[in-house]
Amino acid sequence: MLTEDVLTGNVRTGNVRTKVGVLALQGDFREHIAVLRGLGADAVPVRRPAELEEIGGLVIPGGESSVMDKLSRAFGLAEPLREAIADGMPVYGTCAGLIMLADRILDGIAGQQSLGGLDVAVRRNAFGSQLDSFETDLDIPAVGEEPMHAVFIRAPIVESVGEKATPLARVGDGRVVAVEQGSLLGTSFHPEITGDTRFHEYFLQKVRQAA
Ligand code: GLN
Repeated sequence: MLTEDVLTGNVRTGNVRTKVGVLALQGDFREHIAVLRGLGADAVPVRRPAELEEIGGLVIPGGESSVMDKLSRAFGLAEPLREAIADGMPVYGTCAGLIMLADRILDGIAGQQSLGGLDVAVRRNAFGSQLDSFETDLDIPAVGEEPMHAVFIRAPIVESVGEKATPLARVGDGRVVAVEQGSLLGTSFHPEITGDTRFHEYFLQKVRQAA
């Protein structure tokens, strides 16, 4: 791997530069693509199963998890995505994307399925209507000393963390809002809209390690 690629977040295996995908069925995928490209990564939208074969990592954006679930099944993406996750592809889910990665969904709509991978139970819309959206600063030692300004929009909470997953961040009352498990990463909040790129950099490190 070339040093310049390590610095820019691009990955070369032989002469082939590994692309990073952003699931683009619904939600704020454009913001994630912009952040990843800003870090120098070759980020592409993913809508079809064949596109999964070209990427070395995937971001699942914020949006509405029940719609993303239906679309991913309708487009034949759900099973290939589950296989890619089981094969160890790095995946980072924000908000609805975290719900998609959770092994267990609480307060899902009838029949809602996740892709799974993260050994956690995630409750949708967990902050209630009074606190639909809010912002706060979080300590997240895994990505650096400086607290991270976090924006929550109808956000889920990680209600229980299984043995295989590790909490990375908690809100003031102790509830978990970021988790990691091997090559998987999930946050209840939206770093793609605040200009703090540390989670995307952390994800790109996992992509490089997996390549
Ligand atoms: N409430 C949404 C859901 O259940 C998530 C909101 C978001 O991604 N900002 O999928």
